[in-house]
Amino acid sequence: MNGLEVRGLSYRYGPRQALKEVSFSVPKGRFCALLGPNGAGKSTLFNLLTALFTAPEGQIMVAGVNLSQEPRRALARMGVVFQQPTLDLDLTVRRNMLYFAALHGISGSEAARRCDAALEQLGMGERAAETVRALNGGHRRRMEIARALIHRPEVLLLDEPTVGLDAASRAAITDHVHALADQGLSVLWATHLTDEVQDNDLTLLLHKGVLLAQDTAANLRQDQS
Ligand code: ADP
Ligand code: ADP
Repeated sequence: MNGLEVRGLSYRYGPRQALKEVSFSVPKGRFCALLGPNGAGKSTLFNLLTALFTAPEGQIMVAGVNLSQEPRRALARMGVVFQQPTLDLDLTVRRNMLYFAALHGISGSEAARRCDAALEQLGMGERAAETVRALNGGHRRRMEIARALIHRPEVLLLDEPTVGLDAASRAAITDHVHALADQGLSVLWATHLTDEVQDNDLTLLLHKGVLLAQDTAANLRQDQS
């Protein structure tokens, strides 16, 4: 199966069990919201999915590639937007994008083409020549998401990508990322804001390291009422 598949993932910090046998799938073309209060284990899960931590137990498959067995191949299929922005504020949007493309071994006209296409997908096509410092917070985040697409990943992970943004910026970003899922990307979006989740989205409810539920947002909302 394509997309992201996680099986039996557990993680401990000393005696504290931060994740307990977490299993889920984000199929190709689905937007999946990872919801949970502070301390639920979202960051731990993120660090495992991005290979910053190594899982002693469990399996992570990224577009069919085992992350622990073939990390380079698996990470090449993954785009990541971390919670802390990592943009050079004094470079233009385009230079930031091209630098990232170069890290992936993409250069020249191919890099320029991909840069333009990715910015276009986030509605940022007009802003390529601006310095990042001149952009508002929402546009900076959109640029970071565009940058995470430059190597054409199959899976996109975002850790609370709308923190600190106003409602209009948040709505624009969630809409763009839903459109990316509609085009075939598998999206895992960690958040604690339920208004970012649409009815048809898959939703994972994480609480104290345990996956309490996984279903569409519409079904989970029905269960609550
Ligand atoms: P979230 O991102 O959902 O807030 P975390 O993954 O940061 O959750 O944390 C999950 C649990 O693991 C919490 O109980 C947290 O206190 C604990 N934890 C996180 N990082 C560490 C660490 N480096 N050492 C010890 N405990 C940790
Ligand atoms: P967030 O809720 O954004 O995940 P946290 O405040 O839970 O942030 O954690 C911030 C950092 O502190 C993380 O790197 C996490 O691993 C670490 N951390 C969280 N809880 C603990 C803990 N009990 N002991 C040590 N480090 C921790």
